This record gives sequence, structure tokens and C-alpha cells, in this order.
Amino acid sequence: MKRIALVTGGIKGIGGGISRALKKSDYIVAANYQKDEEAAKRFRKETGIPVFSWDVSDYDSCKSGIKKVCDSLGGSIDVLVNNAGITRDSMLHKMKLEDWEKVIAVDLNSVFNMCHLIIGNMREKKFGRIINISSVNGIKGQVGQTNYSAAKAGIIGFSKALALESASKGITVNVIAPGYISTDMTDAIDEKIKESIKANIPLGRFGQIEEVAHSVLFLAEDKSSFITGAVISVNGGQYL
Ligand code: NAP
Repeated sequence: MKRIALVTGGIKGIGGGISRALKKSDYIVAANYQKDEEAAKRFRKETGIPVFSWDVSDYDSCKSGIKKVCDSLGGSIDVLVNNAGITRDSMLHKMKLEDWEKVIAVDLNSVFNMCHLIIGNMREKKFGRIINISSVNGIKGQVGQTNYSAAKAGIIGFSKALALESASKGITVNVIAPGYISTDMTDAIDEKIKESIKANIPLGRFGQIEEVAHSVLFLAEDKSSFITGAVISVNGGQYL
């Protein structure tokens, strides 16, 4: 029986790579996005993966979005990847309240919304894989990212607590914490700054989207059933 996977922010960047990797590994995949209709259309055409637009920071939108996904795919979600995320960087003394609230809403509240709406069904089925995408900056902090670091650290605490609550029900809850990954966002960084960042990464390079996707695939497998509450760093050894 094929497993059904839902990836939030799953049409581009790391999420796009995760959706593609899951499809290649024979999962039935649905990809959520928010507003980039052009990219969603292109992704749909290239991959054949159905796309669903809603705002993951809004509880009711998540509720109707999940219902649409399940109705359309003909089953409930077995694998949930909470990947959607944004940044609104600035030093705390200059940070606008709205930039704090927006990042907490999209990066952290979304994880509550999606898990809260899906966990009941996973508990009934006695199976589930929840994989939450945090960040190296949620572990070590980053200048200009009090909002983002707080949200990404919050994901780790949330996941560990939910892992404990879900352990007896065949549901695993784990976190991937990527370091610098080559995406549109990091491609835009000035070459000189990129070189100085790479100098602090033991492997001497940025990670590839496929390398993050591979770690998600590993945790999604039925066979990864004894791994829960874990935080897997995919960061080129920044902690060595
Ligand atoms: P990205 O290319 O900017 O893609 C983000 C995706 O999330 C987009 O598809 C976007 O939708 C979606 N999204 C944003 N807000 C949303 C909302 N409110 N509701 C639904 N979808 C929403 O991001 P990325 O660089 O691949 O990052 C993916 C995840 O990895 C994020 O959680 C990020 O924090 C984390 N991460 C990234 C890096 C890195 O180096 N890139 C490092 C560590 C952690 P639209 O397409 O409609 O805009």
C-alpha cells in the first residue's frame, strides 16, 4: 500500500526537493504552497504532483486545505513534512512587532496547526511520520534572527513533546535542522560573503537540496520506526 505524504511549502526550494524525492520513492504526494501560482503551475506540470494553496499560519485554512488534499488523494496523511517557512530579519532593537508575529505564525504556529489537525487520525491508524524542518539557527542562534531562531527552536521543543505523546501509537516525530543549503535564497548572497560562510563549514561548501530531501526520506520510511524525538543536523559539520 502506498503511503500518502503532504509537504508544506512543497513546490520550491527544499520543500520542492522533498516532494520530488518522496514521489520518486513511490509515495503519493501532495504539495502545499501559499501564493506563487506560476511556480506551482510549473511544478505541477514538471512533476505531476498535485498542488494545494493555503496559508499554513491560519488554522481554518489548514483545516480546509487538509480536507481537500485527503478528498483528492483518497486517503489520510501518513507522512507530514512541515517545511514552509519565512524569514523577516533585523536586529531586535529595530524589529517591528509585525515581523516577530509573522515569523512565529508562519514558522511555528503552522506546525501546531498542521500537527493538531492530523495527529488524531494518525493515532487512530496507529501510524504516522511527522518531520519538521527547523534550522541550524534554531540551535545556535543568529544575529538578526531572534524571531526565526525562536520559531525554529520552538519547533524542536514541540517535536520532542509530541514524540513522547505519540510514541505508543506508532507515530514518530523528528526534526531536520539544515545548515546553509543552495537555494534561490542562498544563491543571491554576495560571492565574497558566501566564501566567508563556507570557511566556517567543515565540509567547505553549502548543502544541496537533495541532501536534505534524503534525510527526510530516511525518517519517512516505515523501517525508521525506532527513531523519534531526534534532531538531525544536515549542516556540513558546523558543530564538529
Ligand atoms: P523557500 O524557497 O522560500 O520556499 C518556502 C516555501 O514555503 C514556498 O513554497 C512558500 O510558498 C511556502 N510558504 C511560505 N509561507 C507560507 C504560508 N504562510 N503558507 C503556506 N506556504 C508558505 O524556502 P527554503 O529556503 O527552501 O526553506 C524551506 C524550509 O527550510 C524553511 O522552513 C526554512 O526555514 C528552512 N531552512 C532553509 C535553509 C536554507 O539554507 N535555504 C536553511 C535552514 C532551514 P510560495 O511558493 O507560495 O511562496
